[in-house]
Amino acid sequence: MKNLKLKLEEAVGKSKIIEDKNQIKKYSNDFHYPLIEGKIPEFVVKPETLDEVQKIVHTANELEIPIIPKSSKSSRYGGTIPENGGLIVDLQKMNQILSVDPLNMHVVIEAGVTFKQLQTELDKVDLRIIPTIFSNSDSVISSYLGRYPTYAMPKFEYTDLVINLEVVLGNGEIFRTGSMASAKSPPVYPYGSSLDFFRLFHGARGSLGIITKASIRVKPKPKIQEIKSIPFQNHKDFINFVYEVERKEIGTECLILNKYNALNYLKIEKKDTDFPNWIFLICLEGPQRFPEDKITYEEEALNEIINTHSISMKKNELISQLEGLYLKKFNCLGDGEHQSYDLPLYLTLNKFPNVFSAIQSALKQFDAFKIDLGVSIIPVERNRVAYVEFDLYAELKENKHVIEFRKLFSDLGELAIKSGAFIDIPFGPLKEILYSKMDGYSTLINQVKNIFDPNKIMNPGKIEWEVP
Ligand SMILES: Cc1cc2nc3c(=O)[nH]c(=O)nc-3n(C[C@H](O)[C@H](O)[C@H](O)COP(=O)(O)OP(=O)(O)OC[C@H]3O[C@@H](n4cnc5c(N)ncnc54)[C@H](O)[C@@H]3O)c2cc1C
Repeated sequence: MKNLKLKLEEAVGKSKIIEDKNQIKKYSNDFHYPLIEGKIPEFVVKPETLDEVQKIVHTANELEIPIIPKSSKSSRYGGTIPENGGLIVDLQKMNQILSVDPLNMHVVIEAGVTFKQLQTELDKVDLRIIPTIFSNSDSVISSYLGRYPTYAMPKFEYTDLVINLEVVLGNGEIFRTGSMASAKSPPVYPYGSSLDFFRLFHGARGSLGIITKASIRVKPKPKIQEIKSIPFQNHKDFINFVYEVERKEIGTECLILNKYNALNYLKIEKKDTDFPNWIFLICLEGPQRFPEDKITYEEEALNEIINTHSISMKKNELISQLEGLYLKKFNCLGDGEHQSYDLPLYLTLNKFPNVFSAIQSALKQFDAFKIDLGVSIIPVERNRVAYVEFDLYAELKENKHVIEFRKLFSDLGELAIKSGAFIDIPFGPLKEILYSKMDGYSTLINQVKNIFDPNKIMNPGKIEWEVP
């Protein structure tokens, strides 16, 4: 370790290395602790330039030390937890907004730039980020690469929010994707000459290299935004409703919350509070030209569907508060009162009742301790597929609870997959369940990783899995 410390000091200077044991310890777990547990890293290093990142990667290769990249303050799914110690490369100090191009609607930013920081800059030129629910203080790049679905997804373009990437690969080489690869070209065209590499780094969980900067899509800021909330008592009632709304291309953003999650965002403890069991929030946007006309037209279309479904639009003060919360910080609901262990999955919305009832009955049978269930749903690309997050609120105070909860969590994952869901993050107890059901997938992942990271120093154990 002495050798590592000396080499790091040479690479980045003493001031960028954290040695304080208490500070370092904080990097050994995340929101999914103790569902997922890690080891304490040897050091945390906070580079500020591409050159420093490259030197760190060279050092790690030389000493065969694992590197774990981290770009946000808060993390989930064990992605930044060292499985076997190593070096955390915390990129929060690489937080320069390198360029804003209002005409060609993109920005170039470093890995540590947060949503809040970027939106503050974009406000000056009437542009807008594509928001995610929890995003204000998180890194734009790592959130988008983590593929957390944004709920502004009227079109396919908004599922690919990162245009080009600059990466220090695990082998220490610098690689740029798409048009960024060509020094004189603007970083606006995602696809490469022949093969497209940019998607390889989505969902890679820091396993192939360290992303230092990226060009990101932004969109024109609407002149007006209006939120409409449609209440439902039963989950079966919103399925067809949502399909109809999306088919008619109404609104630009939407999400569905169950009562538990909605009250959690509102920081209301009393779960018997008068509030609908489910709420569908939809954001209507009026563009710079004729904004009122667009809103009126969309409202009419929405009301037509509401009437066809005979939905009673009872006014409720808490619903207004939720709408206000949504709009307050550029469409971000912020953190809820309680943290949950979430099970994120994708399914077609018509399958939701099956999966939901399977999860509900498994939770009913689990009587070891109390678990509350929150649900958030984000229709993606006009509801071609839906992102569904089951949030398990549990207090894991005793070791036996942790063991029981881990078993329950993997059972729920298995159940969800059997009922037709797809899980795209191979984390914790779910990794084996996922890969064992996808023939050949993990073998190819191991081969790809080997190309970019031959010494296997990049966040080992996060995406690889050996077929037993
Ligand atoms: C499915 C899903 C559900 C979510 N649900 C919630 C929620 O319920 N509540 C909430 O508050 N937030 C939620 N989030 C948001 C989340 O906390 C982060 O915004 C998001 O996961 C991005 O990761 P991060 O910013 O925590 O990045 P990090 O924790 O920094 O990293 C995430 C992964 O990317 C790798 N990585 C990070 N930076 C780099 C880099 N520069 N180069 C290469 N690899 C890198 C890390 O090693 C790690 O594996 C969710 C995100 C996802 C994907």
